Amino acid sequence: MTTGVAILGSTGSIGLSTLDVVRRHPDRFRVVALAARSNGARLLEQCLEFRPFVAALAESAAADGLRQELDRHECATRVLAGQAGLEAAASLPEAAQVMAAIVGAAGLKPTLAAAAAGKRVLLANKESLVCAGRLLMEAVCRSGAELVPIDSEHNAVFQCLPQPAVAGTRAAGVRRIVLTASGGPLRGCSPEALEAVTPEQAVAHPNWSMGRKISVDSATLMNKGLELIEACWLFGVGPSVVDVVVHPQSVVHSMVEYTDGSVLAQLGNPDMRTPIAHAMGWPDRIESGVKSLDLVEVGRLDFETPDLERFPCLRLAREAAEAGGTAPAVLNAANEVAVAAFLEGRLNFTGIAGVIDSVLNRHEIRPVSELADALAADGWAREAANRITSEWGAATA
Ligand code: NAD
Ligand code: MG
Repeated sequence: MTTGVAILGSTGSIGLSTLDVVRRHPDRFRVVALAARSNGARLLEQCLEFRPFVAALAESAAADGLRQELDRHECATRVLAGQAGLEAAASLPEAAQVMAAIVGAAGLKPTLAAAAAGKRVLLANKESLVCAGRLLMEAVCRSGAELVPIDSEHNAVFQCLPQPAVAGTRAAGVRRIVLTASGGPLRGCSPEALEAVTPEQAVAHPNWSMGRKISVDSATLMNKGLELIEACWLFGVGPSVVDVVVHPQSVVHSMVEYTDGSVLAQLGNPDMRTPIAHAMGWPDRIESGVKSLDLVEVGRLDFETPDLERFPCLRLAREAAEAGGTAPAVLNAANEVAVAAFLEGRLNFTGIAGVIDSVLNRHEIRPVSELADALAADGWAREAANRITSEWGAATA
């Protein structure tokens, strides 16, 4: 029997790596749904290769175009559009596993839909946990869904925990979780040089090939900040239990320290197909296409403390994690707006942290008891961040 897999964000970096793993296991997995925002051309190619039951595009004009093309190719895939289409793809009865790999808070509702439908949720979309961690964990608990992390650090931690690891529950004997960070492409930059960093420099990651938004997040260290918050929800710990250490080689993907002083780490070449194959095959081990780790070739493993002066985003994220409530949702939304402005040349690199800090300072933190609370905080923060970004843009023009 094959396992049905739905891939949300199939046209992106994680989506492509997931399809690469699926291709290696035609007897084990069957793609039943694919979903993306607007890249109809790539989704068409994927539909013709994998013949899913459903393909969903968030933008309805792109969905119309895809429907026509699929008709022309006599492909029976049903095309859905908009938010409802994404959620239908996420909860399709034929899907036992859902890869949640939409980028940003746009992934929240489809990820919640997959969790509510009791799927094995393969969670790449860390922003959904940052924005509404309590709600997502509750949905998982209520439906009996499985939550298996795809983020390489969290997948590493998951692998270092006693099995079966229960999402959201602190395992007995865990003293500390240590997330590793590559430090990104700007690790060695002076504060002056950081002012002038271009989008091309910021997205040129030394070890990982990823989408543009997460690449900028890696350069600012906000990615590690979002991951700190993600770790708190996934592993049922407070932020003080989660440490971050810079490890430029990206070979040790993260570690768990136990009360007896033992530290377990997961190592491997930096290639997302390893955590993807692990999460899809779990508890079995399956082929991923990733080459063996050659430690002699790597030569050395370095570790250093992150510089919170030059990369204040990690500090802002830790503070938001400690404050709780709507603070992480606001941090995340302000970051999405600031990163988009930076990529479009409307904000300089150091302005990203500046905008997020200003938005957080203006925010009155509230509890997140229902989805409306998270969405309201997200909407408010986007508006505030857009306003500040254009004021700053006007001041420097
Ligand atoms: P990407 O930009 O390459 O791809 C994003 C995907 O999301 C695309 O398929 C796009 O069509 C889709 N999308 C964007 N907005 C959408 C919307 N409004 N509605 C529906 N679909 C939408 O991004 P990526 O690098 O693949 O990252 C995806 C997620 O995985 C992010 O949350 C990221 O933080 C996480 N992640 C990525 C990596 C990596 O190596 N790329 C590693 C760890 C975690
Ligand atoms: Mg990561």
